[in-house]
Amino acid sequence: MQTVVLLRLSRYASPGMAFVFTLLSLGQQKPQSVPGIYLNQKRIMLRRFLHNTCILVLCLAAVSPVFTQSQTKEGYAIKNVNVIPMDQERIIPGQTVIVEDGVITKIGPNINPGRKVAIIDGGGKWLIPGFFDMHVHFFYEQGEHNNTCEAELKMMLANGMTTARILAGHPAYLDARRKVSVGVWPGPELIIASPQLVGKWPWPPDFKNYEIVDSKDKAEAAVHRFKREGYEAIKITFMVKAEVYDAIIESARKEGIRVTGHVGPLVKLPRALKTGQQIEHMDEFIEMLLPDTSYNHGQSVSDMNIWRKEAWATVPFLDEDKIPALVTAVKNAGIYVSPTNYFFVSTFGEPMTEEQIKKTAGYRYIPSVIKKERWQNWDHYIKNAPPEASRRRYVQLRKQMAYQLWRAGVPLMAGSDSPEFFVVQGFSLHDELEMFVRSGLTPFASLQTATINPAKYLGVDKQKGTIGPGKQALMLLLDKNPLEDIKNTNTINTVFMGKKWYDKATIEKMLAEAAQILGK
Ligand SMILES: [Zn+2]
Repeated sequence: MQTVVLLRLSRYASPGMAFVFTLLSLGQQKPQSVPGIYLNQKRIMLRRFLHNTCILVLCLAAVSPVFTQSQTKEGYAIKNVNVIPMDQERIIPGQTVIVEDGVITKIGPNINPGRKVAIIDGGGKWLIPGFFDMHVHFFYEQGEHNNTCEAELKMMLANGMTTARILAGHPAYLDARRKVSVGVWPGPELIIASPQLVGKWPWPPDFKNYEIVDSKDKAEAAVHRFKREGYEAIKITFMVKAEVYDAIIESARKEGIRVTGHVGPLVKLPRALKTGQQIEHMDEFIEMLLPDTSYNHGQSVSDMNIWRKEAWATVPFLDEDKIPALVTAVKNAGIYVSPTNYFFVSTFGEPMTEEQIKKTAGYRYIPSVIKKERWQNWDHYIKNAPPEASRRRYVQLRKQMAYQLWRAGVPLMAGSDSPEFFVVQGFSLHDELEMFVRSGLTPFASLQTATINPAKYLGVDKQKGTIGPGKQALMLLLDKNPLEDIKNTNTINTVFMGKKWYDKATIEKMLAEAAQILGK
């Protein structure tokens, strides 16, 4: 009865991480997760930037990436464009946007850009801020551990991601951040969370993007070390005990670094809400919908319990009327939430068919070794899938929770949790935005989750997340209006990344290069 089936998918570290391994019948064991926080990056970033610049300035001169637009002018002007600044729900038609030295300097209807700047015709197109994806991983920690970060970053950038938060850290990702920051690699600006803090690691120790913290001392030491090593948040995933969780939170507070991640059944939501942890996946939210009289507390389809058939048996008893109280508690905690609903819905709630999966835009970019694992897991899940009625209700509750959180004013952030199952970086960010709209958010509110909301959370909203004078030129030129149909975020014509821009042909080239490396 109490067997533990570990199905190895990807090995990792996301909520998904958990997903990577299928825990079917867990008996007394409860996988767990914990919170996270981000912080005070400016000082670190400046120090890191100076350091990186010194190291890599020589490389820069030598390795001018072939796929970026070469710039002979002093800046650029996007002419006659419909600006969606994302400061409020509005479109300002017929604008000229001037960018100098990577910063937006002027916006207006009748600006003469002068002869020194390159001209980009924005006629009939829409300009929106570049996207943040607040929950991303690399394939490196999965499959055969090939470091294909460079190709993956191109894929992210080509899909309009101008900032990515990598949620299970590794020294190789700190290196990737450095290469991007000095322009050696094209890619989104990277925010790297620490290796994930876990209570246990029951899988092979073949890729060290985790740290086992089973005591307060270990928690303190880990937080201190990761802060020192330059990680920008502490990531908690699973099986962390409550007292160790408290030690992580306290150490992170002292170190001035935020905590982000899972909340597991050993910690439970009320404890996490008190700490201000930024919560991924709405972990333990569904647990709060169990009736007070239930004997199944700790057994809901939350966190890693999603793999347990017994947990799915609790779904018919979940009480939708408890959502408002849950939402109030989350609202009062003042936290940001990344639901990562597309991943959960497309993998567990409404699992895609083989045909649907193969048609997804990201499928060809999944390395073959990883694809093989994914199909084994998909096959296993499909053959053992929970009843359809439960899955439908699960989807409906997840959407309801996201919708009601939004209505109550809880700031939501787009997180794809890619690459997980068949959810691929870049492409899946658009799926997550569409999922928000399917849950009842307006297209504008959905766009906020990938622009101004994460910018505010990260404390960079003076520089990023909206379009206006003084902001960094992180922008996307779209062929179609995303406020009309959120799917139009897919119509990317040009990605602006500060001083550089990537036009349609360059985007196609980056994707082709990524497919060649990844699709082997
Ligand atoms: Zn993850």
